[in-house]
Amino acid sequence: KLHLRKIELRGFKSFADKTEIKFKDGITAIVGPNGSGKSNISDAVRWVLGEQSAKTLRGSKMEDIIFAGTTNRKPLGMAEVSLTLDNESNKLDVDYSEVTVTRRVYRSGDSEYYINKSLCRLKDIKEIFMDTGVGIDGYSIIGQGKIDEILSNKTGDRRLLFEEAAGIVKYRTRKQESERK
Ligand code: ATP
Ligand code: MG
Repeated sequence: KLHLRKIELRGFKSFADKTEIKFKDGITAIVGPNGSGKSNISDAVRWVLGEQSAKTLRGSKMEDIIFAGTTNRKPLGMAEVSLTLDNESNKLDVDYSEVTVTRRVYRSGDSEYYINKSLCRLKDIKEIFMDTGVGIDGYSIIGQGKIDEILSNKTGDRRLLFEEAAGIVKYRTRKQESERK
């Protein structure tokens, strides 16, 4: 298994102070009122994995991901996000049992990437996640748009999707076949 253990954010969007989110085994749900920063967390995950499109991160320019300040707090000059993944089973092709990938950006626009605190290229980050499903092109992040897409399908189609996931399509098909006889 390849498990996300921890996300650390500093200066990323609404997370001005250093914020650590730890994930135990099983399912973790992040709940909170509108505008409290839930989606900012998934933006942060995409961003570390190399997202280059400000629009995908719901901004107009990359600088928009740096904490912009509030009425009583100054804007920050830098944003940094780290993801720590469990690599006990060596799913990631590196000699560490735990891998931390970090991305940092300054208002000048320069991004720096790190693997276990060593400066690296974005290419290195992309390479370690290749074929793992985790990378920016993987299926590990399903955005709100995708959910809307599923929910806006015709009810029949939606039902099929749930039946498929539940593995019960075969039973319904058999029932229909027997009723036809
Ligand atoms: P919803 O339930 O509506 O989806 P949410 O919990 O997903 O809400 P987010 O979209 O993650 O909320 O957070 C939006 C908040 O983040 C807004 O209040 C916005 O002002 C703040 N925000 C975004 N970018 C920055 C930034 N660069 N600096 C400071 N705050 C920011
Ligand atoms: Mg949201």
